[in-house]
Amino acid sequence: MREVIVNKKASKSLKEFFPWVYKSDILTKIDDISLVKILDENKKFLAVGYINPKSTISIRVLSFKEEKIDKNFFIKRIQKALIERVDIDSNAKRIIHSEGDFLPGIILDSYDDHLSLFFNTAAILKFKNEILEAIGEVLTPKSIVISGDLYSLKKEGIKDFKSEIIGEIPNEIVIEENGIKFIVDILEGQKTGFYLDQRKNRKILTRYIKQKSKVLDLFCNTGGFGLYGAKIKDAQITAVDISQKAIQNAKKNFLLNSKEATFITQNAFDYLRVLRKEKKKFDMVIIDPPSFAKSKAQKSTALRGFKDLAVNGLKVTEDEGYLAIFSCSYYIDLKDLEKILLKASKDTQKQIKIIEHLYQDIDHPYILNNPYSLYLKGLLVKIV
Ligand code: SAH
Repeated sequence: MREVIVNKKASKSLKEFFPWVYKSDILTKIDDISLVKILDENKKFLAVGYINPKSTISIRVLSFKEEKIDKNFFIKRIQKALIERVDIDSNAKRIIHSEGDFLPGIILDSYDDHLSLFFNTAAILKFKNEILEAIGEVLTPKSIVISGDLYSLKKEGIKDFKSEIIGEIPNEIVIEENGIKFIVDILEGQKTGFYLDQRKNRKILTRYIKQKSKVLDLFCNTGGFGLYGAKIKDAQITAVDISQKAIQNAKKNFLLNSKEATFITQNAFDYLRVLRKEKKKFDMVIIDPPSFAKSKAQKSTALRGFKDLAVNGLKVTEDEGYLAIFSCSYYIDLKDLEKILLKASKDTQKQIKIIEHLYQDIDHPYILNNPYSLYLKGLLVKIV
């Protein structure tokens, strides 16, 4: 294994188990992708990782122990990740969540044993065979779709990445989460997505939904939040998404669970204004937008979007009703959401109280020394 020496700054953060080394902190010249042993300036061992000199985050750590990176290494990592996925009442879960499971560059989801393996760094691709063999030994895949983040891979020098399918994938896979069925299309799914990370929050919010009450599920995608309310509390759901495809999928999911809802294909910002004009109100309003801030530069625009949603969301919530608001962008954190709600509460003159702090489910683990791994957070508030 090649050796790289890193500066004091990087040595210090590696000792705190920070899993990355930036290009500017590397003292040894390495020209191509390879597995490396990371050493401090006194040649003391720090970690094992892979380097891609083309990437600003040049080294991603695979282990803080001196160990061989082979099939057995990946087997152990997958086995450990599986042990941590306790009490998930679903046959769909994320098995590997990149750095969160100490396997940077890999996301592995299982939908009733049909696997989706997603690569987002060029260097981890070198281990594709070992990873596939490890998956074959630990899991019982019915099929595997291998795909990648083309944008990141291209930036890292991989121009010809091709998706692959091993085995046969049915057009529609039916998964069951907390007793509720969803159709998942893992081929298209990379784009339309099934949001495994909201599983736990769907269950938590449902506790606060009253029998047969009115729920507004904004940015519903495949209908997750609303369908829980309909199925478990017989609630009357209005599900809104801008994407026709998402609404089609949501409709199929309601049908599959013998439930009905009002489906609206519209921009949620505009639809909230329609509701206000018609003076319609709901007992619970759920706001789960896509990431409005993909970088720090987009933060202020994103905050304005959130403020608009929070103000209009509160306006269409009944007194004693609930509002849940989520951010899946690292750049908009819980503090930001609290500030937005505080302002929205003042502007609407509705007094609110925080009922629940909400985070991504346990199969999307986060690690303290990589704050980016905590991306999904939300608040459930009640109008008092
Ligand atoms: N709540 C969903 C996940 C939401 S993902 C679940 O639990 O599965 C975000 C969704 O917002 C996507 O489906 C996307 O199509 C939709 N979307 C993006 N911009 C929108 C807009 N302006 N108005 C309504 N929906 C929008």
